Amino acid sequence: MSTTPSTDEMASDDELDSALITARRQLERAATHVDVDPGVVERLKHPTRVQQVSVPLERDDGSVEVFTGYRAQHDDVRGPYKGGLRYHPEVTAEECIGLSMWMTWKCAVLDLPFGGGKGGIAVDPKSLSDDETERLTRRFAEELRNMVGPTKDVPAPDMGTDAQTMAWFMDAYSMQQGETIPGVVTGKPPVIGGSYGREEAPGRSTAIIAREAVDHYDRDLSNTTVAVQGFGSVGANAARLLEDWGATVVAVSDVNGAIYDPGGIDVDAIPSHDEEPEAVTSYATELADGDSARRLSNADLLELDVDVLIPAAVGNVITADNADAIAADIVVEGANGPTTFAADAILEERDIPVVPDILANAGGVTVSYFEWLQDINRRQWTLERVNRELEEHMLDAWTDVRAEVEDGGLTWRDAAYVVALSRVAEAKETRGLWP
Ligand code: NAD
Repeated sequence: MSTTPSTDEMASDDELDSALITARRQLERAATHVDVDPGVVERLKHPTRVQQVSVPLERDDGSVEVFTGYRAQHDDVRGPYKGGLRYHPEVTAEECIGLSMWMTWKCAVLDLPFGGGKGGIAVDPKSLSDDETERLTRRFAEELRNMVGPTKDVPAPDMGTDAQTMAWFMDAYSMQQGETIPGVVTGKPPVIGGSYGREEAPGRSTAIIAREAVDHYDRDLSNTTVAVQGFGSVGANAARLLEDWGATVVAVSDVNGAIYDPGGIDVDAIPSHDEEPEAVTSYATELADGDSARRLSNADLLELDVDVLIPAAVGNVITADNADAIAADIVVEGANGPTTFAADAILEERDIPVVPDILANAGGVTVSYFEWLQDINRRQWTLERVNRELEEHMLDAWTDVRAEVEDGGLTWRDAAYVVALSRVAEAKETRGLWP
């Protein structure tokens, strides 16, 4: 059965895809490939609940400001809700619902015993001092206290939040509950129950999936060129691992632009976003005249004729406007939602495989699952064990999705959604609808 959207849908993406629109479209598409009770699909279009809270903050100057926070819980049929808390001025209830739906599919495609959640506060984190961020986080934890917990809903870092934010959240929750409960959040510093390898995990999983995709299309990693947009947690880690494994990374970028060297870039020599923000372009300015490397725009990076393109910066970068110009043979989504629905259809027409975000960057939530297990068992794993088990989980998920591609003739994205929806729907049908 063809899954190509109608010409109207393909024509443009003037209104760039919102997380909720994309999540609903993907659910409807996946449902056409799975023998699933329409009542289950109907239930999955709606989140279980969305909590909106007011989060008052006493600023450092003594004034009081009230921010709005949210937590969307999409579905918990397979286990506690799981997903990030973001601090960003544009956080809305609708965005949280859409992203919580994505988390349901991401957890299910990796066969993790979690459902999808997402939340955050509509605030510019750069406008807050460290003390203000701590007070805001502690109050937010208190406002969400009744809905979170290791067996209910387990938040994690996301845009604008980090391991320290999770430490404050966990401390506030634990103080109120009267005991230390590290499993209420993941992405904590290892000293208080965080997992080794968590920070690197989404980039590592993206690299593993890119490596498997290269192999699937009968190529040799040592003859593979790679372009990576974004040199942060996901992009830098993916680029470094792929280079370690023999690939030639020919282009990387940060928000200010890209650097391209057909002979290969020494990605270990460039600090990642976390090590030194926006260092790619400052590295580029140090290039000598005779160097084969040159600067490019982020738009040009996306159109390079490479074997593998990894958009690993932000969403909606491959659109109806540039999908015809994508010259890579394989796209592996490191970022969340880098390809719009319209662009996806164009790439499908052009036979360019796109391996989706919910599979490729799911290493983050997978190591979060490992962290949750370590917290419950009060036993920390070594980095070697984390990476070994991550590799196993990613390969299992890859095999499950590949089977749908090969047997059902589906795109990688549809195949991943089919795997995820089948698991969630089967759990829902088996448990039934109560009352
Ligand atoms: P990060 O902040 O560590 O790095 C982002 C990088 O992208 C930086 O190099 C930045 O300069 C660059 N960038 C920002 N805006 C850009 C733009 N408009 N064009 C080109 N480059 C731009 O972020 P990250 O944690 O690596 O996340 C990247 C993407 O991966 C996001 O979509 C995020 O949602 C997704 N993701 C992250 C994780 C995680 O745990 N870190 C997990 C899954 C998915």
